[in-house]
Amino acid sequence: MSIQVRLPDGSMQSVEPGTRPIDIARTISPRLADAAIVARVNGELFDLTRPLDSDAELKILTAKDAEALQVYRHSTAHLLAAAVLELFPETKLGIGPPIDTGFYYDFDRPTPFTPEDLEKIEKRMWEIQARELPYERVMTPKLEGLQKYADAWMKCELIRERAGEVFSEYTLGPQFIDFCRGPHIPSTSKIKAFKLLSIAGAYWKGNEHNKQLQRIYGTAFFTKKELDEYLAKLEEAKKRDHRKLGQELDLFSIQELAGPGLIFFHPKGGIVRKQIEDWMRDQYLKRGYSLVYTPHIVRRELFKVSGHANFYSENMFTPMELDDAEYQPKPMNCPGHILIYAHKQRSYRELPVRLGELGTVYRYERSGVMHGLMRVRGFTQDDAHIFCTPEQIESEIVDCLQFAFDTLETYGFHSYEAELSTWDNGASGKYDGSPEQWKLAEDALAKATERLELKVKVMQDEAAFYGPKIDVKLVDAIGRLWQLSTVQFDFTLPRRFGLEYIAEDGKAHQPLMVHRALYGSIERFFGILLEHYAGAFPVWLAPVQAVVLPITDRLQDYARQVRDRLDAAGIRVSVDDRNEKVNLKIREAQLQKVPYMLVVGDREAQADQVAVRNRKHGDLGAKPLDSFIADVRKLIDTKAVEE
Ligand SMILES: [Zn+2]
Ligand SMILES: [Zn+2]
Repeated sequence: MSIQVRLPDGSMQSVEPGTRPIDIARTISPRLADAAIVARVNGELFDLTRPLDSDAELKILTAKDAEALQVYRHSTAHLLAAAVLELFPETKLGIGPPIDTGFYYDFDRPTPFTPEDLEKIEKRMWEIQARELPYERVMTPKLEGLQKYADAWMKCELIRERAGEVFSEYTLGPQFIDFCRGPHIPSTSKIKAFKLLSIAGAYWKGNEHNKQLQRIYGTAFFTKKELDEYLAKLEEAKKRDHRKLGQELDLFSIQELAGPGLIFFHPKGGIVRKQIEDWMRDQYLKRGYSLVYTPHIVRRELFKVSGHANFYSENMFTPMELDDAEYQPKPMNCPGHILIYAHKQRSYRELPVRLGELGTVYRYERSGVMHGLMRVRGFTQDDAHIFCTPEQIESEIVDCLQFAFDTLETYGFHSYEAELSTWDNGASGKYDGSPEQWKLAEDALAKATERLELKVKVMQDEAAFYGPKIDVKLVDAIGRLWQLSTVQFDFTLPRRFGLEYIAEDGKAHQPLMVHRALYGSIERFFGILLEHYAGAFPVWLAPVQAVVLPITDRLQDYARQVRDRLDAAGIRVSVDDRNEKVNLKIREAQLQKVPYMLVVGDREAQADQVAVRNRKHGDLGAKPLDSFIADVRKLIDTKAVEE
């Protein structure tokens, strides 16, 4: 009896049971067989060398298919584990999955791995790779497996939890075998480019009550060229790391005494943050939003009504007992804005009501996941809520999105992606709101994107349970994608709070409610800007816009005059009057990424000039002071990104 295999081009092959995908690839073309990494059989990833035992839809995947990279990276993780066991046989293996940026493997070993160990391990990986070992799938009965892995405690735990009566393992040569679902690449000879990157602590199963393990991170690509490009990008990202720049430029800190995930903005960071906040508040007022302020701590009762005390409680700081009730720091600004909306009866004539706030919220993040400004426990959102009628919703969404794009443009981000997250048409029952509400909201979002000629990726069944949304992700200077703005419907909160407006028909109706945040969090946005510009903020944002450098003590007076005139023109300026060589002062100002260094000597003093040096373009020659001031003023007033 033969089995029928359907190929992607629709053609059929009739083959013996036991035929392997790689055999079929060979009949298609030797080139395909050569490039093959893994197969997809009936929708699932499948080893090239695993026999087919029934009719199948078959596709041979090569380096061109994204899924193949995952399999390739996971196979490199096995190679890592094999090398570690050869070098450090006392090590116990945890798990070794592929991740977005490569792969990792978790190890339990009494001695910490050192950077020198990483080099040794990498070298051994290449040695094992050169042995051209096949990744062979072996089926093992559960009981036998548990005996075999008796002294590998993590594998035993996994087998007990996950394995069926018979489970699959993958060998790599005679020595190495790993309990694994697979699939894998056929042989180590396919592995062409990888690098071990770092060692980090990780808890077994990500639970801090479990044993701490050592996680080795690595990355792998199909070609050396791709690997080199990735490593160069990583190097560039390291140079731009906002935590490093934040310290070097004295912008912000996280204080051990005050606790993790809580940010202190220093004077220079404070100036930058003020620009970011002022711009947003001004925009609120220009675009018909009302500016509101709501308390950081409120009665827990509010979050019971909003539902956060229930479905969001594990992200909230624990309540504190006061004399009259329990109080709690807010994790969201929405309930506060709702109280302002509901404070009086609303007529359709007042709608839309747009309430905006730079609102500080507190969310509990586990200690392992916090990261500089990017993931914190206290942060300020540029948060607004729009309450409107169904007739108004489409233009409100258009305005929100336009506002989001204007924000990106202002800060010098010219490329972005947008995602529209929709529901599952009610199939699962996990979404709140009626089908009519979902249709109205999704239509409004779709029409708004059409009006703006915006390309969106539709993410079906990715909406929040309370409504559909559009997310905007920006692309930064080194090609990284950052989730930024979000425009989100909410069917749940207006109902929970019984929100109303009196419509033209004289009856009470429930308004539509939209949450929207454009920077997302100001802390995080600050971090993104810092990395995007590698610390060299555009002139209008720069904490110090110009520094005056007198050549000798004799010129102190003129230097101060220059400072005062810049200051009077609203330019942030300082004088470096230390008794140091001008070249050293220039170097330091350059390191501080000050846009303009104004060197003043006798000649400049006599001619009412400054010798201008720009951080990017170097020496620009002498200029009359007035025209320099006018030039910089123009950069500031137009919020120029280039200088
Ligand atoms: Zn595996
Ligand atoms: Zn909200």
